[in-house]
Amino acid sequence: MSLAESMLEIIEEEASTRGFARVLAVRVAVGELGSVEPESLQFCFDVVCRGSLAEGASLQIERVEGRAWCMECARSVVLHERHAGCPECGGFQVQIQGGEELRLLDLEVQ
Ligand SMILES: [Zn+2]
Repeated sequence: MSLAESMLEIIEEEASTRGFARVLAVRVAVGELGSVEPESLQFCFDVVCRGSLAEGASLQIERVEGRAWCMECARSVVLHERHAGCPECGGFQVQIQGGEELRLLDLEVQ
């Protein structure tokens, strides 16, 4: 819930600097290794935005694939699950490099 709340805060700040009154759509990037479930983010977003300038706005979630550095292969590999091993060698000597983020990409406003 707090993630959706901070998203709304960012949107409201944008609204006061850019001077728009309605938000029609919000596009966010959600990393597939992060703790955010798209379905629950969607639900929380709808609840939090009720009565705000973003009420009824559609939330478009873009999944960002996870990336990790495999020490065995000595290269960067794609990781779809946090606790999955390296897809190349099956090893678990991997360090997550990306795909944990939640980022606001853009807003469609009126
Ligand atoms: Zn590997």
